[in-house]
Amino acid sequence: MNKPKIVILGAGYGGIMTSKSLEKLLKSGEADVTLINKHEYHYLSTQLHKTGVGTAADRQIAMSIPELINPSKTHFVKAAVSSVDINTQEVHLEGGESISYDYLLIALGFEVETYGTPGIKENAFEIRSFRTSKAIYHQINKQLNLYKQDQDPSRLTFVVAGGGFTGVEMLGELADGLPNLCKEHNVPFEKVKIVAIEAAPSVIPFFPKQSIQYTTEVLEKLNVELITGKKILECTPEKVVLENNIEVRTRTLIWSCGVKGNTIVHNWGLPIVRGKIAVEADLRVKNMKNVFSIGDCSIFMKDEKNALAPTAQVALQQAPVCAKNIVAALRGESLTAFEYHHKGSVASIGLKAGVGKVGNVRLSGLIGAFMKLVIEARYLFNLGGPALIIKQHFGVNREPLKVTAKQ
Ligand SMILES: Cc1cc2nc3c(=O)[nH]c(=O)nc-3n(C[C@H](O)[C@H](O)[C@H](O)COP(=O)(O)OP(=O)(O)OC[C@H]3O[C@@H](n4cnc5c(N)ncnc54)[C@H](O)[C@@H]3O)c2cc1C
Repeated sequence: MNKPKIVILGAGYGGIMTSKSLEKLLKSGEADVTLINKHEYHYLSTQLHKTGVGTAADRQIAMSIPELINPSKTHFVKAAVSSVDINTQEVHLEGGESISYDYLLIALGFEVETYGTPGIKENAFEIRSFRTSKAIYHQINKQLNLYKQDQDPSRLTFVVAGGGFTGVEMLGELADGLPNLCKEHNVPFEKVKIVAIEAAPSVIPFFPKQSIQYTTEVLEKLNVELITGKKILECTPEKVVLENNIEVRTRTLIWSCGVKGNTIVHNWGLPIVRGKIAVEADLRVKNMKNVFSIGDCSIFMKDEKNALAPTAQVALQQAPVCAKNIVAALRGESLTAFEYHHKGSVASIGLKAGVGKVGNVRLSGLIGAFMKLVIEARYLFNLGGPALIIKQHFGVNREPLKVTAKQ
């Protein structure tokens, strides 16, 4: 008898952790599991700011998928998914190949939201994937090099748009990492300007006053110039134009103003709400028995009006429930409703400071930074046990991973 085929699209937080859970839950020979991802590596999206500034080795952020899974239980296919045919139950890959499924999980993550702002798609840099973050690193190095030739100050002005958690993490990392990069290029760090632009009246506007004040003070101490309450109207290769005719001359705008679900899923005949795949409480796509979706490409309503935020925390809590429900579906058992438990949010501001809240406890300073490290270590532990934590911190391959194109 043919074994049921489970196909997982995307090996980000949601996809890879679902495949790890399936490895534990499925009995030997009970199903074939295929994991499809467009790169050979799984990257830690929550650490991409480090890749952008080169403060972490590439292999600390991007880990080989074949080394993370059990190849006797999960078959990995490195390919970009181009479409899914829900009627014939087939996944089509770029290059023409097709893979059929009995149970499908769509976990294809997020895309950057530009709100149609002119020039962003063409000229700004995104913190979206390992590749786009590596492109930021190459851009910084290129501008430091070119500055030596023409002394144009716009080359040493690095602008981050968006003062949410991701933007703040990027700003902290730039402040931490640029002195070293300047030294490597023999460029005076005193000439570097780091600028933050936020449309709301403050950075991390959704956080309590004390956290906002703390973050503002830390950024100011790091000599980050804060421009708040101003929207970006346009970005060209040489400047950013803001409201009130303000212009910032820069060659490097790092755009961190929000995300949307991966738009590739829009033409597959799935129910789309607010640009994402609508799912039931059991994580199955609405009105579908054998298609599941989790993480940033899906929308999970916590009540009639409000959806869960697109975070790694949500994707990671959904993954084991999704795996359990896929197994239950193929065994003809009843499925479990997903319940989200918010554990808190923490952002690093460089290596020595952090800000956030865990449970009811507000965190800042070194403790905040430490808690961010604990959260990351906990993820590595769940992904590959203590051996992976040790390898990532002490035995990681420090050869740069060769990715060039901005994608
Ligand atoms: C800089 C940064 C910091 C963040 N910090 C935090 C944080 O501190 N805490 C938190 O909870 N969240 C944080 N987030 C958000 C978090 O990273 C996302 O919510 C999380 O990555 C979503 O997981 P996912 O599995 O849905 O998608 P992803 O992790 O984005 O994975 C999607 C996968 O699908 C693959 N893929 C996409 N398209 C295709 C295709 N066509 N074919 C094949 N494969 C494809 C991608 O390569 C990727 O591997 C941060 C995000 C960023 C960018």
